[in-house]
Amino acid sequence: MGTDDIDHEIIDSIERWAERELRPVARKFDHADEYPEDIVEQMKGLGLFGATIAPEFGGLGLSASTYARLVMSIASVWMAPVGIFNSHLIMAACVQRHGTDAQKRQWLPRFASGEIRGGIGLTEPNAGTDLQAIRAVARRDGDAYVINGTKTWITNGVYGSCFGVLVKTDPAAQPRHKGMTMFLCEKGEGFRAAKKIRKLGYKSIDSAELVFEDFRVPAANLIGGEEGRGFQQAVGGLELGRINVAARGAGIAAGALRDALRYAQQRETFGKPIAQHQAIQLKLADMATRVEASRLLIEQAARKYDTGERCDLESSMAKLFASEAGVENSLEAMRIFGGYSYSTDFDVERYYRDAPLMCIGEGTNEMQRIIIARQLIERNPV
Ligand SMILES: Cc1cc2nc3c(=O)[nH]c(=O)nc-3n(C[C@H](O)[C@H](O)[C@H](O)COP(=O)(O)OP(=O)(O)OC[C@H]3O[C@@H](n4cnc5c(N)ncnc54)[C@H](O)[C@@H]3O)c2cc1C
Repeated sequence: MGTDDIDHEIIDSIERWAERELRPVARKFDHADEYPEDIVEQMKGLGLFGATIAPEFGGLGLSASTYARLVMSIASVWMAPVGIFNSHLIMAACVQRHGTDAQKRQWLPRFASGEIRGGIGLTEPNAGTDLQAIRAVARRDGDAYVINGTKTWITNGVYGSCFGVLVKTDPAAQPRHKGMTMFLCEKGEGFRAAKKIRKLGYKSIDSAELVFEDFRVPAANLIGGEEGRGFQQAVGGLELGRINVAARGAGIAAGALRDALRYAQQRETFGKPIAQHQAIQLKLADMATRVEASRLLIEQAARKYDTGERCDLESSMAKLFASEAGVENSLEAMRIFGGYSYSTDFDVERYYRDAPLMCIGEGTNEMQRIIIARQLIERNPV
């Protein structure tokens, strides 16, 4: 069996799983804002916590293209569970790409099995886009570092136990990124989730404030073993991160289209299904076109990523377009559902609440536009 066949089989079985296991419970968990423990156990069994981790460390070793399709399939049913393994895989990718051999052997197999789960801690109350303005510090003390500071909005912050945490090891360094370092931190004395943040959407998954108070982390947990590389390690994963967020946006856009198309053929006004009214047809056509355009942009960026080509322009375009497609399609689905869109008995109100996050995560869409424009200028000098 070729790699394409195997990838196709994986996507197929994930699609069936999402329909069978996620769809029936999504609304209940979302409205209760309850962590889906049982779903997490199932995701472990499916290998999702090791989806992009290399097979030699126990992962599935999926390409960016296959992973993006998998993410889109799940997000078209319910976006939030994707965050539970996606943020975890960003932490794992940091170790896989930048860790020492000993760190890879120690951590990756336990990340891949889902035995240890977590995420990535970059953002602070005063620094998001301007990541080099973070204030969390780590001071060397013998064979350990002592971390003090606060991270916020950290996905999996309550239920995860291990995080890639970006801090300053030299707060006075110029340029600022030279003083930044990333550590793998396991919860324990001095490191706790202080507060679960209440949100508009993206429910059931925990976003939390993480507090470090004289937290001692072994020096062996410094990713890559050398200070001053944390910023590059954090932003180095962004191309893949953007492809993933794009896939989530495209998934929501596809889910909104699927539900709206079905509803429009069932709901009748003035003696015919609303799908027969041109005003509704125009919406459906635009929604479907956005989904396909998103899919193609994502595929283009992911293919380039998989072949090792530079893809910052492509991944930014995919992220920008597909996340906006998620927002636009979910709003159009609301219009097509009319009054019922406002009812919590339907899924479209969830798509509408979940979609805007994709315009913020992995670099806001304002920043994506700036990256795209800079690349255009750089690639087309006069
Ligand atoms: C649900 C959720 C989950 C998250 N999960 C994580 C996580 O797991 N780990 C993590 O580290 N972070 C996480 N984040 C944080 C997220 O990455 C940040 O919110 C994001 O990077 C934006 O930073 P900010 O909120 O500080 O906005 P700011 O940086 O304060 O930006 C505010 C506004 O100013 C604009 N802006 C800023 N600088 C410029 C500029 N130079 N030019 C033009 N416009 C500019 C922005 O585009 C935005 O519109 C999460 C956020 C949310 C909401």
